[in-house]
Amino acid sequence: MKHWITLALTLALAPIKSQTLVVLGTLQDGGSPHMNCEKSCCASPKPNDYVACLGVYDSTLAVLFDATPDIVPQLGEILERSGSKKYAVFLTHAHMGHYTGLAHFGREAANTSKVPVYAMPKMIDFLAKNGPWNQLLKLQNITLNGLESRVPRTLKNGLIVEPFLVPHRDEFSETVGYFIKKTGGKVALYIPDIDKWEEWEENIIAVIPRVDYAFIDGTFFADGEVHRPMAEVPHPFISESAHLFSFLPREEREKIYFIHLNHSNPARNPDFEGRKALEAEGMHFATFGQEFQL
Ligand SMILES: [Zn+2]
Ligand SMILES: [Zn+2]
Ligand SMILES: [Zn+2]
Repeated sequence: MKHWITLALTLALAPIKSQTLVVLGTLQDGGSPHMNCEKSCCASPKPNDYVACLGVYDSTLAVLFDATPDIVPQLGEILERSGSKKYAVFLTHAHMGHYTGLAHFGREAANTSKVPVYAMPKMIDFLAKNGPWNQLLKLQNITLNGLESRVPRTLKNGLIVEPFLVPHRDEFSETVGYFIKKTGGKVALYIPDIDKWEEWEENIIAVIPRVDYAFIDGTFFADGEVHRPMAEVPHPFISESAHLFSFLPREEREKIYFIHLNHSNPARNPDFEGRKALEAEGMHFATFGQEFQL
């Protein structure tokens, strides 16, 4: 009997963990200033202009979505907001902006102990079979946890993370996006990199109504933005995505936050007319430090 009373009291007194999603970076892999860029887009760097990354935290845990080259200030930022010292990482794919930050967990840097890293099978294989990443495993700086597409993973703090495959240049690993949610709470969609919406098995127009916030690939604003064949680096142009979303009601469009912007993207400038037009239609551009309740 006493045990039951103790248990009931414990449950009643347990704090309700509210999960907060925070934008920790908004740029494409190469960041800004971008190597060898002498244009105005990289002439006056802004503070906190980091590579695309979302974080979700409560008082017990901080979770990063991707380990970017800017992981040091990004992890510092989320741990300060969380007040916890515990953290975990979910990876989307093996392109430089999305996993190379793992190097900071190694012996030359933070020398962490068993940081949980969640990834898909090919990504795990890539890390386990190639240096310097396999040293992180050998020294137990990180532990790898396998994910499966479309299978939700529930963390101890109640956060639910569901990966799904998306088409992308998969040289070293598959690429996933994530549904990030909390039981009875809100749902965020995260797709920092995808080749083209038409190549995905899902219809983005049908997915938006199922989520509350959608952080999606906004790498390039329009064709011709960079002087290299843009078919080599396919992404849905923001102009194409915005055209698709024009068929959605305004309340659905208001869920859209473009993220993962290339240094060259004119929409990085809040005064850019093309950006202002999309904002007038309800869409948003993710900004560092923005928070959302799950
Ligand atoms: Zn990327
Ligand atoms: Zn630039
Ligand atoms: Zn990529």
